[in-house]
Parts: sequence; C-alpha cells; structure tokens
Amino acid sequence: MSMLLHACCGPCSMYPLELLGTMGKDLDVFWFNPNIQPQFEWDRRYDNLVKAADHYNVRLIRQGEGCEEEYWRSGEYLKEFSSRCEMCYDVRMDAVAKAAMEGGYTSFSTTLLVSPYQQHDRIAQIASSKADKYGVRFEYMDFRPGFRHGQDLAREIGLYRQKYCGCIFSLEESKFYDKIVRSFEPPEL
Ligand code: SF4
Repeated sequence: MSMLLHACCGPCSMYPLELLGTMGKDLDVFWFNPNIQPQFEWDRRYDNLVKAADHYNVRLIRQGEGCEEEYWRSGEYLKEFSSRCEMCYDVRMDAVAKAAMEGGYTSFSTTLLVSPYQQHDRIAQIASSKADKYGVRFEYMDFRPGFRHGQDLAREIGLYRQKYCGCIFSLEESKFYDKIVRSFEPPEL
C-alpha cells in the first residue's frame, strides 16, 4: 500500500514524514514545485528536502527544473485559472496524481496540508479532482495540528526555514524582501 507524498519543502515535510512513519506507511517523496522562484531559492529548498528525506530514510523523486519566473510574470495562466494560487495548486496536484498513477502507487497526498497559511480546503478539493482524473486515491490528511512541531523538528536538524510562500510575487510582497534578496547575493571574495 504505497503512497506518493508531494513535498513543497523540507520544513513542511518533517511532521508528515514523522507521522506517516509512525503509521508504518510505505511511501516515496515527490518534488515538483515550479512555483519556487528565483532559481537560488528553488535550489535551496530542494537541498533542504534532500536533508529531510535522508533524515527519515525515504526515497525522493525529483521532477521538473526551476525556475519559471517568466511564466508566472506573464499571467498567461489567468486564461485558464481564476488566480495564480489556483494554478499553483492545480499544476502540483496534477503532477503528483499523474506520477502516482504512472508509478503504480496506491495513493498520493501532499505536505501542503500541513500549513495553516495555505488554502487547505481548496488544495484538498483540487487533489480530489486529480484523483478522479487519474484513477488513484487521494489520501486526505489534516497535518495542521503538527505544523509547529514540524518546524521545531526542522530547526533541530538545521533546515533552512523560508520566509515567503515561493513564487516571485510572494517574495516581492514579503516584509522580509530586503533581507531575503540579500541572502541570494553571493558572498564577497
Ligand atoms: S503565493 Fe504561494 S500558493 Fe500562491 S502562487 Fe505563490 S507560491 Fe503558489
């Protein structure tokens, strides 16, 4: 009974991986997050997820490359979706459901369901529609009660904990913008 668990980042994966491990779930972790911009941040979040997956000794499958800033800025997706977040959830749930079907997994889920800052119910609705589309079960789990615990676990193993959601707009809207952008700059030699 294997699950393919979409992971948005290392810190948000900690509690779901701990919980699913104690439940004895057989699972692989799936990375597909074209919403993370700029490239430096995409690399940094992926590297942190590698650490989280190693910590829990689970296999990590990577799909896609970063970063899609130009597409996000174009607004092209608004012809099909009502908002950028709607598109952002849709493309990621579509990818994990399709990969679960193609890989012969029994079910899929996502670490996006741990965050109190995301549109939890909408993510679950979209994931359910992708389950119907690909004929693979969406395993809904409300991970939110473990959000703070997961952040503590991330701190304990030294994971980088990001200060913005992911896309270029969420970076530009962040009150930590200056500090974050400075962190992208290479150190002086
Ligand atoms: S704010 Fe977050 S969920 Fe919305 S489009 Fe940006 S990265 Fe995706």
